[in-house]
Amino acid sequence: MGLDDLYQEIILEHYKSPKNRGSLKDPDATAEGYNPFCGDEISLSLQLKNGHVDNIAFTGSGCAISQASASVMTEAVKGKSVADVKDLFEKFSQMVKNGEISDVEEMEELAAFQGVSEFPTRVKCAMLAWNALKDGLEKTSENKD
Ligand code: ZN
Repeated sequence: MGLDDLYQEIILEHYKSPKNRGSLKDPDATAEGYNPFCGDEISLSLQLKNGHVDNIAFTGSGCAISQASASVMTEAVKGKSVADVKDLFEKFSQMVKNGEISDVEEMEELAAFQGVSEFPTRVKCAMLAWNALKDGLEKTSENKD
């Protein structure tokens, strides 16, 4: 199995059986994302604790890339500090826009979306959940300051 096949497999697996699907009862922030090019929708809810993402869940509908990206993102950021999440946001964003990847180990399943950089119209699909996450984190810092 080649790397591309493995990456395809990861995306399809998360699309078929998404992780952290649902909505949290008492979230610190919620955020929505909509991609008009594809009709993809994402609703995120998240809870923070001691500056870390304690819990995160999403609902949504749309193409495999958008939904799988949301699922992989929730797994990747859970338990991480807000600063680390922002760092990961930048790395993921660079990877899907330019194909640049600094540390494959660190990216884990997120690396499956590297090939998206070859399809500019799908970058919005892959970034949808991440942009919603960024909105959500900005809301929580506004609430607390
Ligand atoms: Zn899409």
